[in-house]
Amino acid sequence: MSKGLPTRSEDYSLWYNELVKKADLAENSAVRGCMVIKPYGYSIWEKMQAELDRMFKETGHSNAYFPLFIPKSFLSKEAKHVEGFAKECAVVTHYRLKNAEDGSGVIVDPDAKLEEELIVRPTSETVIWSTYKNWVQSYRDLPLLVNQWANVVRWEMRTRLFLRTTEFLWQEGHTAHATKKEAEAEALQMMNVYADFAENFMALPVIRGRKTESERFAGAEDTLCIEALMQDGKALQAGTSHFLGQNFAKAFDVKFATKEGGLEYVWGTSWGVSTRLMGALIMAHSDDNGLVLPPKLAPIQVVIIPIYRKDEELEAITEKVNGIMAELRKVGVSVKYDNRDTYKPGWKFAEHELKGVPLRIAIGPRDLENGTIEIARRDTLTKEQFELASQPISEKITGMLEDIQTSIYSKALNFRAEKTTEVNSWEEFKEVLEGKTGFLSAHWDGTSETEEKIKDLTKATIRCIPLDRREEDGICVYSGKPSTGRVLFAKAY
Ligand code: AMP
Repeated sequence: MSKGLPTRSEDYSLWYNELVKKADLAENSAVRGCMVIKPYGYSIWEKMQAELDRMFKETGHSNAYFPLFIPKSFLSKEAKHVEGFAKECAVVTHYRLKNAEDGSGVIVDPDAKLEEELIVRPTSETVIWSTYKNWVQSYRDLPLLVNQWANVVRWEMRTRLFLRTTEFLWQEGHTAHATKKEAEAEALQMMNVYADFAENFMALPVIRGRKTESERFAGAEDTLCIEALMQDGKALQAGTSHFLGQNFAKAFDVKFATKEGGLEYVWGTSWGVSTRLMGALIMAHSDDNGLVLPPKLAPIQVVIIPIYRKDEELEAITEKVNGIMAELRKVGVSVKYDNRDTYKPGWKFAEHELKGVPLRIAIGPRDLENGTIEIARRDTLTKEQFELASQPISEKITGMLEDIQTSIYSKALNFRAEKTTEVNSWEEFKEVLEGKTGFLSAHWDGTSETEEKIKDLTKATIRCIPLDRREEDGICVYSGKPSTGRVLFAKAY
């Protein structure tokens, strides 16, 4: 097959869009900003979901489901929350259509106006906290540790497949606690769950940090995040975990009787990752030949392709392949035998390369004679002859899959290190930002004014205040005022 992908250096943005479409991950739909996630793309998302879901359950959370619609009055109850989301809300005003009198088609029936307009959820804090009011009376009802897998709608003006869409799929955790300390610990724990998932499953190194006040979630007291760097040097916020204080408890009057007999507002958190992670996965590892998937999230880890001319050859190869597949499946490797006779081997090689299958095995008649197979690695595009008698095939393949998983992580980590620069003056800041993108580690005076000014002048934003930053006295790169530590700036998606 001809891949027809532009290269990353030619046009990164076009490369990304074409890759998403050509690798059968997703495509644009008839509705602006909304995408169709195709079966192959969805199967990667399902793998992500399965791991995350397992991690949420291991940390004590259960899944539930809340409505798609939020009464407008609910959204308005928390002032900052509504202010933050008002600009991007889809609103349902009517519940019926009717035929137009002039026969021109259907129109909204003016007689079917909703008494109270409904917002299509952009996030579910309000509808969930209105429910928690009924669920929480005493300290015995706490903590509530709930997650929901759902779709949400934010009327985004500039969209890009997976990274920023109008409707997106996500999970949103919403927890309620008796103490501030417990809620803060929960927000931190879930940020760490996200970082663990990103690093160990997506092979994506992330910075664990805290958002500045101006980048904080609308209605939160504190927003923790994981930030990743893409191959074009732009940053991507890959997940957030919010400490909500008592803001939503106060807005929805959620109080509990304490052990000591008092009455107090509940403390809350919320946290989410979305189909944006698919975009992060694609952008972080893929190359000019197509997708590169970490083995732990690849729907197909190994593809086997027979090389033959005559039907008898195919029969003999298939027999051998059946044995290999049984060995691999026994150790949990997902393997596909691509014996379609409608495509030539070269075409299949290119297709599986484009789709990022981590390992490809080819077997021909000569291999059968010699007791060998050819194994090709997607990440390095290297091939080797493997003698089946030298080592159990299951051991060989699992070893190689582990190696791919760790080496694409290291590659991304090295890339990030190369693209992170400490800068100490405004001149240097501008110079570095022009020359190469990536993270700039710089002192900042802690004010929103300076942050805003830098953003206006350079488009770089403060991605986060890294949690592990050293305390270090310095002066702000822009204002020259004192600073107690460095923050990470970058241009971002
Ligand atoms: P938030 O509720 O704003 O903290 O966002 C929760 C998660 O959803 C974060 O991981 C964001 O990266 C992600 N996200 C926010 N907006 C979008 C969007 N328009 N498309 C895809 N993902 C998004």
